[in-house]
Amino acid sequence: MHGGWGSLLLHGEENATENAPLDAYDVVVVGGTLVGCFAAMHAARNGLRVLLIERRTFLATDITATLRPWLNRKGFETFDEEMKERFLPKAEQPEVGVPFEPQNPDNGFGDDVPLFCGSVKKQFMATLQREGVHVLLMTGVWGVLADEQKRTVSGLALANKFGLQLVRSKSVIDTTSRSSGGRNAYSFSLELYGVTDTTTREVAVPVSFGLLDDRVRVHRGKRRPGQCFVEFGLPAPPQEAEEKARLKAEIVCAHLIKHDAAFRKARLVQTAWETLRREKQATHRKIYRNYVSPTCTDTSELSCRDVLGTDRRAKSLIQDLQVEERVGDRAQFIDHDSGRIPLEHCGVTGLDDIRLNYAIQHLTFDYERHLPVGSRSDVVVAGGGTAGAMTAIGAMEKGASVITVEYFPELGGTKTLGGVMGYYWGYKDTALFDRMERAVEEQGKALGAATSRIAMMFYLRKQTTRGGGRLLTDSIACGVTKDRNRVTGLLVERDGALTILKGKVIVDATGDGDVAVFAGAAWDSGNRRMRATQNYSQWDINPGGKAWADSSTNRDYDILMSHYLSELQRGYQLTHGQSHHYDFMPMLTVRESRRITGEYTITLKDVIEGRHHADAICLAYSDYDPHHFGDTALTRVGCLLPHGISAVVEIPYRALLPKGIRGLLVSGKAISQTHNALQFTRMSFDIMTQGFVTGWIAALAARKGTDLRDFNVESLRPSLVELRILLAAPSEKAIGAQQRIDQLVAGEPDSLIRVLALPREEVEPALVERLRQSEDESGSLRLAKALAWFGNPIGNPLIMREMETLYAAEQAGGALPWEYYRKDKETDYWTINQDIALLALSGDRAALPAILALADSLRLNNPPVRQETAYNRGRIDLTLVPYYNRIVNVCFAIERMPDRQAIRTLKRFLDDPYIQGHVTESPEQASTKVYGGILESRIAATLARCGDKQGFDVLVKYIDDVHCLLSGYARQELGAIIEKDCGDSRQKWAKHIAGLTFPRPPRPRRADSIEW
Ligand SMILES: Cc1cc2nc3c(=O)[nH]c(=O)nc-3n(C[C@H](O)[C@H](O)[C@H](O)COP(=O)(O)OP(=O)(O)OC[C@H]3O[C@@H](n4cnc5c(N)ncnc54)[C@H](O)[C@@H]3O)c2cc1C
Repeated sequence: MHGGWGSLLLHGEENATENAPLDAYDVVVVGGTLVGCFAAMHAARNGLRVLLIERRTFLATDITATLRPWLNRKGFETFDEEMKERFLPKAEQPEVGVPFEPQNPDNGFGDDVPLFCGSVKKQFMATLQREGVHVLLMTGVWGVLADEQKRTVSGLALANKFGLQLVRSKSVIDTTSRSSGGRNAYSFSLELYGVTDTTTREVAVPVSFGLLDDRVRVHRGKRRPGQCFVEFGLPAPPQEAEEKARLKAEIVCAHLIKHDAAFRKARLVQTAWETLRREKQATHRKIYRNYVSPTCTDTSELSCRDVLGTDRRAKSLIQDLQVEERVGDRAQFIDHDSGRIPLEHCGVTGLDDIRLNYAIQHLTFDYERHLPVGSRSDVVVAGGGTAGAMTAIGAMEKGASVITVEYFPELGGTKTLGGVMGYYWGYKDTALFDRMERAVEEQGKALGAATSRIAMMFYLRKQTTRGGGRLLTDSIACGVTKDRNRVTGLLVERDGALTILKGKVIVDATGDGDVAVFAGAAWDSGNRRMRATQNYSQWDINPGGKAWADSSTNRDYDILMSHYLSELQRGYQLTHGQSHHYDFMPMLTVRESRRITGEYTITLKDVIEGRHHADAICLAYSDYDPHHFGDTALTRVGCLLPHGISAVVEIPYRALLPKGIRGLLVSGKAISQTHNALQFTRMSFDIMTQGFVTGWIAALAARKGTDLRDFNVESLRPSLVELRILLAAPSEKAIGAQQRIDQLVAGEPDSLIRVLALPREEVEPALVERLRQSEDESGSLRLAKALAWFGNPIGNPLIMREMETLYAAEQAGGALPWEYYRKDKETDYWTINQDIALLALSGDRAALPAILALADSLRLNNPPVRQETAYNRGRIDLTLVPYYNRIVNVCFAIERMPDRQAIRTLKRFLDDPYIQGHVTESPEQASTKVYGGILESRIAATLARCGDKQGFDVLVKYIDDVHCLLSGYARQELGAIIEKDCGDSRQKWAKHIAGLTFPRPPRPRRADSIEW
């Protein structure tokens, strides 16, 4: 499935060395608690090689995950500058609306030193990065690699969404007891705005609430007047702590708003991600000499003095640490919660990751042989996000027993944990939408005017746990069990233990196709040309209202290849550096990830033709919005520009069935579709509907024992029509060639792309004939354009004339086009670009001089421009040099017919001060450089195809680019041009290229098949 450099690099396992010895860390710290972070920092300062593993997506979790951004001020005066900067960094000042004045005890903060969760996360991450600690987020530890005789550990067994891994280490510090920071056991926290008295104080609540001491504690927030945190304790360690704490939170919130004058106009904006609780300690691990767990102090309030004490404790822990000299060769087994797995039963190979420089290896073994079965149910849903939570609800509605496994502590995925709550586009004219809207609104009211995000999280939790539904949050789906090609169970890591959840039907709703990949499904990602996906975001937390205009919520960061562990880590580390201080969402929102290859793949042709499928299960509705540009010939000829086409798309059931695999359904954005089709199907409500219907199918198939492949989807049609999820009378827009040509001649919108969608043999003769007969100049021009697309240059003089006329007018107009982005209604910017690309596609070399003449007169040396709106400021793909797309189109033309005469043109581009210099060397520059890097590397590749050395030299620099995307592209292009692969070493490429003779013969780019 992976073509080009993808196939070279994505299958790292092919080159992996069996049971290869691996470097070991001196110490692995488990848990990004305060004590864990301090320990990692001191270990690194002592010159040790350190890895810190945290299962959440951020650090200092005793403060940040539990939403307790305050410290008791005892000992504050002894904080040195470093400690002050760590908790109260100067850079947060612009976001502080209620200053904390330590010298003024009457400023309403009482005994608290108020913090920002965002600052604490950012500062601890920055500290560890500065000290050279390797930080591995989103990863659970479920076992130790042990030697019984010596009573030592030599590594840890890990689980994350990339599967199971082993890391070798000479010592381990386990700080995962969540009380390591020393706080109340079992308490929960809420954040409210619009409170008229936020003074830090205690408020009595009715005894019937069953809260510790029958009171809640109010802590003033410093972001804005009217902001506070309300904390309450739970007396006994409750079973299902997360469930119960949230139910109490609802009661507390409603009570305060109703009965306390200060809260009458309050609005609930955040709840703690998790309750503060003690975690089960893996006591048996204590028998190992070099495995230590720091003891914790139980104090009711974490004070500045406690923080200093924690820091001191961590320091002395490191001094006393027993770092074994030799590891790896003595380990005999993996010791875990339910037994021991001999190492000789395991396969240990290199990790399939092109950039990871952490000492980690991929681990496999026979799960059924070594692990317990945790439960059996009809349906197991992996991922409780936009699709997954609705899958569980749909399946329960059809009477199935359901377990939902979600990595984060809450449900809703990209919508709630990522903060993408809006319903921009999506097919919403359904009874399901009305039902959801009403239910979430009701839930919001019950919580006292909560934000819709909070209301949605509460709603989903209640719905997926009612009537016996089970919800496993904080749980990682990390593998599958299979019986030949049938998936029979999901491997899950939770609370440091691995279990198998058996299900009659497993649903992969991870949004990334993780489970399908564990099961061996083929997949693809990004566009075909570069493997570029849409950029990703991480949203700041924004409780809404005008006062928050300064806190941009749409912040795009970079393009990630999120199917690599290293890229996901890079994504989190980058956003930590750039997010706001107040706080930011725990989940990166990745618009595009893997697309699993299914029994049917939805394509752009289906979209534009409105194709009807007998097995349709739901609809999707959007315009084409790839956040930047498509990179196919269709975009180059202006047929597929951002927001250019909109369509309602039918989703066929077969797109949910991974090819060759049974017992598994995929639901969400990872279903089988092309990169272009995904842009129309990914809208959140459409994915919720898809999830809901997936739940119905999973439940019915499981209960009746039907093989998913034999499931009769058409039997659901009447019910789906009744809920308006499907149309009663779908209309397919597919029409014959002659009618399409008529529409083209008449200049109807989108008529060109509909002609291009036809097979060449069918349409070309008819186009030629029509052009011969045509007397209408503009109709002839449109026919000429369609012919050029199919490689026929007979109408090129018309295209050439249009290009030159429009370009002369554009130049006379003077202003540089900002609208490089979408089809411009005011100017002919994109028509000129279209003409360039079509002349190239016609294959007529005689057109090259005119294209080069145009390119040579482009006014360069212009800084990037953007439209100055708050929204666009957050869009990294909209700050580009003028003529960005024109230059890409000139390259598109030249790479098809490379020629020495184009060298001067391309060098002028590359020498432009605003176009050159986009190689990203340090990760924190990655956001601002990626789109510049795409342009520069494209020009360099085109120049290399013309045989000039400068093109090779620039591409070689990109081999080391921080972006896997760009380094991979450089390697792919260099490899294709010189027919050799020198791997991912820049030195090797440079050496090889230094030995070549220049100028080299021009080398045209082989035409890609059109990516529909
Ligand atoms: C920045 C951004 C802006 C967007 N804007 C809009 C918009 O304006 N309008 C609109 O309609 N749509 C928008 N979308 C699109 C829409 O929100 C997404 O396409 C949709 O939410 C994806 O749903 P999903 O169920 O496929 O994935 P998700 O909602 O991400 O759900 C996947 C879930 O699986 C969990 N998970 C993943 N792997 C594992 C694992 N191994 N084990 C356990 N759990 C796991 C995740 O934690 C998550 O909860 C936007 C998307 C993004 C990223």
